[in-house]
Amino acid sequence: MSNVYIQAEHLSFSYNEGEREEHPALCDFSVTINKGEYVAVLGHNGSGKSTFAKLLNLILEPTGGKLTVGGLELTKESLSDEEILNLRKNVGMVFQNPDNQLVATIVEQDVAFGPENLGVEREELRRRVDSALETVGMTKYAKHEPHRLSGGQKQRVAIAGVLAMMPECVIFDESTAMLDPGGRHEVLDTIRLLNREYGMTVLNITHYMNEAAEADRIMVINDGSLLMDGTPDEVFARRDELQAVGLEVPQCAELIHELRALGIPITGDGISDTESCARLLLEAYTGKRTNEATHG
Ligand code: ADP
Ligand code: MG
Repeated sequence: MSNVYIQAEHLSFSYNEGEREEHPALCDFSVTINKGEYVAVLGHNGSGKSTFAKLLNLILEPTGGKLTVGGLELTKESLSDEEILNLRKNVGMVFQNPDNQLVATIVEQDVAFGPENLGVEREELRRRVDSALETVGMTKYAKHEPHRLSGGQKQRVAIAGVLAMMPECVIFDESTAMLDPGGRHEVLDTIRLLNREYGMTVLNITHYMNEAAEADRIMVINDGSLLMDGTPDEVFARRDELQAVGLEVPQCAELIHELRALGIPITGDGISDTESCARLLLEAYTGKRTNEATHG
């Protein structure tokens, strides 16, 4: 059985297909994402990240090329209503503003909303809601009013609503952008849990480099095209190219560049997290000491 979950082949999308002058929002975009991958998506504003996300559950329909999700080629023409509904259930989305995503006045009703609309039976519904709330750590808020929760808690309820649909894949479209650092951590921990513990395929569209560094893989989109695709270490090693498209690198990658510029030989990888950052500094320091001892 194939491990491929998402496959885009020369995919393109234009919001105004008739207008020739318009630069397409996505252009000749090819990528393969496997089941269970944790992919971060980077790119400056307007680069096409949300467009890609919306194509993945047929909110938008490709205007060129081919897009397959879970073995299903996505065109409205070729799919039955049932297949489209099933796709929307399988590719869950969590958006930026938590307030726009919560519909009910009680947390557990909100989480039940999606599966209820799918016609899930009462008992099964109860089980799903409880399990989803437990996964995101919001069980004790089941009877609370969503509007009284913090931003991070609201996003976790929104995630529970998606989980209650039992998706195969969850796409986070800047879901931490409106949160304070605490809330951002709560959501990021949840994203990691979904991928690492539950094996869910995860796409995290973000503009926080430290968040992207957590993923297994980073895709950088620029002007509707895929500019980079690699591990965080591979991508963040290309600092100058990233800066050229308006993206920074995490502090640790920046540090490596500065150490190298000082003539301190830094080899190896593992440049994207804080621990490796500390290890590098120590290496650079002890390397310098050894050097001084031998030469002077
Ligand atoms: P990102 O999510 O990376 O910020 P988007 O996918 O939202 O980028 O946008 C990609 C391009 O498509 C941008 O040039 C944007 O202006 C354009 N665009 C986005 N949504 C619409 C829309 N509803 N109608 C017309 N153009 C749009
Ligand atoms: Mg966007």
